Amino acid sequence: MKLICIGRNYAKHIEELDNERPEHPVVFLKPDSSILLSKHPFVIPPFSNDVHHEVEVLIKIKKIGKYIDEKFAATYYDEIGLGIDFTARDLQAQLKEKGLPWEKAKGFDGAAVIGTKWLPVSDFETVDDISFRLESNGEVVQQGSTKEMLWKIDALISYVSQYFTLKIGDVIFTGTPAGVARVQENDKLKGFIGDTEMFSINVK
Ligand code: ZN
Repeated sequence: MKLICIGRNYAKHIEELDNERPEHPVVFLKPDSSILLSKHPFVIPPFSNDVHHEVEVLIKIKKIGKYIDEKFAATYYDEIGLGIDFTARDLQAQLKEKGLPWEKAKGFDGAAVIGTKWLPVSDFETVDDISFRLESNGEVVQQGSTKEMLWKIDALISYVSQYFTLKIGDVIFTGTPAGVARVQENDKLKGFIGDTEMFSINVK
């Protein structure tokens, strides 16, 4: 399976990192080896002093598809999850400056948290207004709603399927809202959709 990630999909997050608003969705992949094993802590890698949390709504693909029309995109998923796109911001900044790919900063072991809980789409009135948040040590550090996305879920599925065949079990990370920040040893991170806890992880 593959993890397809969207960058710069929330205006306020683009502003906080001083990035340009993209003309098209920014797309990158994480390898399956980046998935943090369930019940394992997230270990800050030795090559970074500035790993940021990015909480993101996840979409799990349930059937194979390519060149998916946006109006049929909703038939390709029926579960919504929550995860973290951990990013070694210092390394990413160096790579960006040189115009190099981001993989080392975003695809390292443990960099993809996929919450073990998945909610059926039928739980929501619309997938375009899902409220979610990340708490660090009991404090809310990031919160957002999918209504703030520059490209909504169905538009993203259509867009990425122009380039990559979507397969059963693939997961799409749909981008992070504002509030990304450095994680530290002993932080306890919990993600919520509405009032439902979707994951809880410790940082080591
Ligand atoms: Zn991200």
